[in-house]
Amino acid sequence: MQIFQKGFNFSQDGPGNRLVYHIAGCNMRCLWCSNPEGMQESNTHTTYSKDTLVAEAISCKPLFFDGGGVTFTGGEATLHAEELMEVLQALKEAGIHTAIETNGTSPKLMEILAYVDYLMMDFKHYDDAILKKFTGLEGSIIKENYAAITQSGRQCHIRIPLINGFNADHAQGFAEFLSKFPTDNIVFEFLKYHEFGKEKWQSAYQITDGFVNEEQLAAFQQAFDKHGLIYIET
Ligand code: SF4
Repeated sequence: MQIFQKGFNFSQDGPGNRLVYHIAGCNMRCLWCSNPEGMQESNTHTTYSKDTLVAEAISCKPLFFDGGGVTFTGGEATLHAEELMEVLQALKEAGIHTAIETNGTSPKLMEILAYVDYLMMDFKHYDDAILKKFTGLEGSIIKENYAAITQSGRQCHIRIPLINGFNADHAQGFAEFLSKFPTDNIVFEFLKYHEFGKEKWQSAYQITDGFVNEEQLAAFQQAFDKHGLIYIET
């Protein structure tokens, strides 16, 4: 697999201190993506074999404090499902806590989860037409994976990027859709729009008014409260 970025991060990409690998290649084209350089595979990225990556992670074990470990993100890590599962399995056999951050589009997600201790999944929109307009993909597989995860009972952290003009005025629709499923095992998080990756796009960046205001965030909190959905306070 190709890695376009890696490094340690504390508590942002799963519990504790974690070694985070950004795997190149993504099947979505989100207009606000903060890592556009990782959307496609390229010979400018570094190719890792399973053995190299696992050996590196094992050498870092003393640094995985406070429940830390290894997180795979992207791009979209699950595009490389077979290789990813092999690496995850080897890490678990080495006693290393594993996590993934995913856009939720893999038909093999439930299979992959057998080797994942902590799952973070995006849920960007319930409306397929809007999702496709802003990300290039409609979301039926994401909804199927969300339903399967809720019904499996396994813990999951669902992240909702809030973007004005895309989803920030759809609080009620989100709460109604997400609460159709059992959510005792789910915690949600609202990620307010930022422009940390904007300069990487140069003139191709298309979001012009993406910042959300306090009223839009409060509408999500109130709608989720009303439907009994648990979210992380930000
Ligand atoms: S799913 Fe994530 S990595 Fe892929 S384009 Fe969207 S924001 Fe970027």
